[in-house]
Amino acid sequence: MTDRTTQPTARSTALLERARTVIPGGVNSPVRAFRAVGGTPRFMASATGPWLTDVDGNRYVDLICSWGPMILGHAHPQVEAAVREAAGRGFSFGTPSENEVALAEEIVARVEPVEQVRLVSSGTEATMSALRLARGATRRNKVVKFAGCYHGHVDALLAQAGSGVATFALPDSAGVPESNAHDTIVLPYNDIAALETAFAEHGAEIACVITEASPGNMGVVPPQPGFTAAIRRLTREHGALMISDEVMTGFRCSRAGWFGLEGEQDGAPDLFTFGKVMGGGFPAAAFGGRADLMRLLAPEGPVYQAGTLSGNPIATAAGLATLQGCTDEVYARLDTVAHAIAGGVSETFTAAGIPHVIQWAGSMFSVFFRDQPVRSYADAQAQDTAAFGRFFHAMLEQGVHLPPSAFEAWFVSAAHDDQAVEQVLRALPAAARAVTASDATLGA
Ligand SMILES: *Cc1c(COP(=O)(O)O)cnc(C)c1O
Repeated sequence: MTDRTTQPTARSTALLERARTVIPGGVNSPVRAFRAVGGTPRFMASATGPWLTDVDGNRYVDLICSWGPMILGHAHPQVEAAVREAAGRGFSFGTPSENEVALAEEIVARVEPVEQVRLVSSGTEATMSALRLARGATRRNKVVKFAGCYHGHVDALLAQAGSGVATFALPDSAGVPESNAHDTIVLPYNDIAALETAFAEHGAEIACVITEASPGNMGVVPPQPGFTAAIRRLTREHGALMISDEVMTGFRCSRAGWFGLEGEQDGAPDLFTFGKVMGGGFPAAAFGGRADLMRLLAPEGPVYQAGTLSGNPIATAAGLATLQGCTDEVYARLDTVAHAIAGGVSETFTAAGIPHVIQWAGSMFSVFFRDQPVRSYADAQAQDTAAFGRFFHAMLEQGVHLPPSAFEAWFVSAAHDDQAVEQVLRALPAAARAVTASDATLGA
C-alpha cells in the first residue's frame, strides 16, 4: 500500500504562469517559489485552524503558519472578530489611535527590559530602524552580525559570512553598495573567540551587535551556553549596543519570547525587534528597549523614523487580539504539538536509518538532515538538502505543507488538533521511504 496521493495542481500551475508575467518569479517573497525544493508552489485559496486549502481544492496541514504569525491557527474566531470590528471603524487614520497604545502596553508588559516601543509594518523596518537608532546613539558606524542570522532585507544586514575571522563582508546581494556593506562585520555564530577578536580590533568603531535571540533562519540553532552573555559583556565593555532580534522568536518561544526563556545573560539587551506573531498575520512589527535610547527617536530626538501605515488600526487590532490569545494553555499546546511531530520524525528517521538532528528553541524546532549538532551556518550548510527536497515533496503529496527549504523552522499553532498531528505522523513513513529509496538509487 502506498500513502501517496497524487494531487491535482492544474490551477496552481496556471496561476504561476500568469504570475510570472507580472511578478518576478511569480512570487512576492523568494522562498515561496519552491526553488530550493523544485516543483510548483501551491497557491492558497483559504485557511482555517491548522489547515490550508489550495486553489485545486487540496487540503494541507500547515507547518509554515505564515512563518510564525498564525500561532493561534488561521482565522481564529477572536482575532477575526477584532479585525472585523476594527475594519468597521475605518482602515487607516494617519493620526494616533488607541489600539497602538494597547499593543505597545501589551509588549512592554510581556518583555521586562522593553520600556518603550515604536510600531512599524515589517520586521525589516524594525531591524533597519533599530540599527539607525544604535548608530545615532553611539555615533559609530560599524555593525556586527552573525553568519546565518537573517534580519530582513536591510542593505547593511544582507551580508553573510566570508570565511575567517572578522571578515569585512562583501555585499551578498546585487544592489547593495560595497560602501554600505563595508561597515558590516560578519562573524560565525556561537564563536566567542571571533567576537573577542572583532572587538579587540574595532571596538571603538562598533555601534552594535545584532543577533537573532535564538536563530531560526538557518534552521533552529540556539546560542551555546555563555554566547549571549559574551555578546552582552563585550558590547558593554566597548560602549556598543546589543540588539536582540526577536522577530521570529518573540511571543512564540514563550510569553516573553526567547528572552523569557534565557533571561538576562549578564544583563538585558539594549534594544529588541519584534514582528511575525505580534501582527497576528497583518503587517505590524516593532522595535523597542530602554526609554533613554528610545527617546532619541523623532519627534523627541535626532534619529528620524516614520511610517504612513505604522500602527495601522486593523493590524494593531489583529496583533493585540493574537497576543491576548497567547495564554499559558496556548504555549502548552504548542509544546505538545511540536514534540508529537518532532518525536514522530525522530522515530521514523531512526527506524529508516536517515541521519538527522532536531534542534529546539522553546517549542520552535527544525529538522536537519545531518547527524552532527548544528552550531553555526557552516554546520547548517553541511546538511543533505537534496534529501530534504525529496522528503518535502513526499509530505506535500500526502497533505502536509512544510516550509519549502531545509534552512527553516517548522511552525505549529495551538489550533493543530489531534487530527492534524495524526495526518503528519501518518505521512512520515512514506516520506522516509522517498528519502532512502532515492539514496539507494544514487548509491547504486
Ligand atoms: C522574518 C524575520 C525578519 C524580517 O521580517 P519581515 O517582516 O519579513 O521583514 C527579521 N528578523 C528575523 C529574525 C526574522 O525571522
